[in-house]
Parts: sequence; structure tokens; C-alpha cells
Amino acid sequence: MAIPPSFIQELLSRVDIVEVVGRYVPLRKGGVNLMGLCPFHGEKTPSFSVSPGKQFFHCFGCGKHGDAIGFLMEHTGVSFIEAVKDLAQQVGLAVPEEDVPPQERARAAAQRRHQATLTEVLRKAEDAFKAQL
Ligand code: ZN
Repeated sequence: MAIPPSFIQELLSRVDIVEVVGRYVPLRKGGVNLMGLCPFHGEKTPSFSVSPGKQFFHCFGCGKHGDAIGFLMEHTGVSFIEAVKDLAQQVGLAVPEEDVPPQERARAAAQRRHQATLTEVLRKAEDAFKAQL
């Protein structure tokens, strides 16, 4: 299933990464960013920062970083699609149905025609064979 990049942008503009990460990691204000204990590596002093402005998380300890979708994938082990669906549901967006690109559709149609031709050829061959008997 393909999700249009425009939808991902729309989704990320509506989702607040602070809220998403905050569901799993207790965050505290630290300047413009929020800090917390990194969920991706063991630590006692917070080096995991979340930027509300950039809508990104970054860990100074282990280097993990990404957006809200990336966080969900990394932290909960879901696929990209599942993370997108999860977030979309929270902000009340409907994930667009699978959109098959035109060239893909043409290829599938050509393949069907090809198969039909093969079936036809086989059927004719069978008829010819039976006529020989
Ligand atoms: Zn880390």
C-alpha cells in the first residue's frame, strides 16, 4: 500500500511529537526543547530531546532521531503504515486508500491480456490436438 507523501506531510503537521513521545516517555521542559530519559538506550541522565518547533526527537546519547512516525516505529515496533494509521486516527484523518500508479495499472492490464492470450492459444492447441485424434 502506498501513502501519498502529501498525506504524510499533512499528518505530521497535525500531530504533535511532544504528545506522541510523551505517551511513552516522561518529558520535562529544558529550554526550547523537552528532555527525557532515552527509551532507546539505558541512561540515568536525560539526553533524549524532543523539539516542538522542529517536530523531531534526537538522542545525544545514542544518536537516535526522527519524527513522530519514526518514534512510533522505533519504540513500539510497528510498521510505517501502522504508525501512520495510528497517528491519523488520533488526529481524525482518514488514511487515503491504496492508490495504484497509472503505469502499475497499465502493467497489470497488459499482464491480464497476455494471460488471456495464452489461455486462448492453449485452448486452440487443445482443440487442434483433439481434432487430430
Ligand atoms: Zn538514546
